[in-house]
Amino acid sequence: MKRKAVYAGSFDPITKGHLDIVRRGLSVFDEIVVAVAYNPAKESGLFTAEERVALISEAVHDVKDHVTVDAFGGLLVHYCERIKANAIIRGLRAVSDFEYEFQMAMMNRHLNDRVETYFMTASESYFYTASRLVKEVASLGGDVSSLVPPGVNQALIQRFKPQGS
Ligand code: ADP
Repeated sequence: MKRKAVYAGSFDPITKGHLDIVRRGLSVFDEIVVAVAYNPAKESGLFTAEERVALISEAVHDVKDHVTVDAFGGLLVHYCERIKANAIIRGLRAVSDFEYEFQMAMMNRHLNDRVETYFMTASESYFYTASRLVKEVASLGGDVSSLVPPGVNQALIQRFKPQGS
């Protein structure tokens, strides 16, 4: 049986830290679905769910035979049931991620005991990379090109271009 896992998150936008987790995940799983979690009632990100999906698809193009990109609303375990995946991948950076991630894993297990959560750690190069910080730095004109895939870098430059230029 094919081992299929869901790597869910906001991915607003996807960073090289996220991509590192996807690549590491491929050494364990046959198929990874990178799933943008969104709530249509309160879309408040920098990029829309469609834009995030497009940016991720471009970034995983080289592994597209094993990685699909999707967006979902509602509970993650319900999404896993719908697409017949029995594993969730989560990325861990510093210890600060741990408590939240642990709570989520326990809640998901409570909701569906057959869906297992797997934690992976990114390379130390991306240990401090977070979408929130990347957006903040890019909005102030900082260079984040080494932390995000090229398409995302372009999209950030475009989004934060001074008005009228
Ligand atoms: P964030 O907005 O904090 O980047 P996401 O919801 O998009 O978070 O992240 C999805 C998952 O990827 C989470 O499990 C998060 O901990 C993990 N993640 C995010 N950035 C990294 C990174 N640089 N290294 C490892 N895991 C990461």
